[in-house]
Amino acid sequence: MSDEVDTGSRAENSNQKKARKKMSARIMVVEDEEALTTLLRYNLDAEGYDVETVGRGDDADTRLKERIPDLVVLDWMLPGLSGIELCRRLRARPETRQLPIIMLTARGEESERVRGLATGADDYIVKPFSVPELLARVKGLLRRASPERLATMLAYGDLELDREKRRVARSGRPIDLGPTEYRLLEFFLEHPGRVFSREQLLDSVWGRDIYIDERTVDVHIGRLRKLLNPGGEQDPIRTVRGAGYALDDRFAKAAE
Ligand code: CA
Repeated sequence: MSDEVDTGSRAENSNQKKARKKMSARIMVVEDEEALTTLLRYNLDAEGYDVETVGRGDDADTRLKERIPDLVVLDWMLPGLSGIELCRRLRARPETRQLPIIMLTARGEESERVRGLATGADDYIVKPFSVPELLARVKGLLRRASPERLATMLAYGDLELDREKRRVARSGRPIDLGPTEYRLLEFFLEHPGRVFSREQLLDSVWGRDIYIDERTVDVHIGRLRKLLNPGGEQDPIRTVRGAGYALDDRFAKAAE
């Protein structure tokens, strides 16, 4: 009996860890000094972030057109394209206009800070810096950029999700979701109203390193809908033809 309980709780803990890893913030480090890149990667990874490193400004520009992380740590002096120019380009594109950027500048470039901030960086840090300081800045900026990511309780309309207890309820009635449906709902609740393509949902909920057919998303959305609306309540998930899915913003208003 006690063995069963132990096994169960271990399984749950490992699922919780996996879910947390899946939902962790993605950080891109654009830096050409290898030693510093290694140090940043190691420390950000230890904090639970999903880290991607790029050594050239032009390569970073290309990658940022394909996939947008949650935050960019951007060195000022880079081969290919300077950090300043990359920052300017990111701010000029609607999809990266709000992307949190921390600029790294060398001591001699301190006078250029103002230019960096004018270009649109959210924060800057002067080299050499302490790793804990950078981690604190990253955390602070992520919190400002998306407070939902760190909230324990997510609520929308009559839906509630408690991250600590991993419980979901609708109008106070508990709903038992499978791990994938739970992560889907958690992701939607982090971005209510926003439409996500199947590909974006696969990247964010399943993880980018796993190859899964996009139709899998439809299957899990279908299951989630069924579980959320057992008695034919209003469907909180909106299908946007040709685009994807969203947590319906009319739903919250209707539930008020
Ligand atoms: Ca550099």
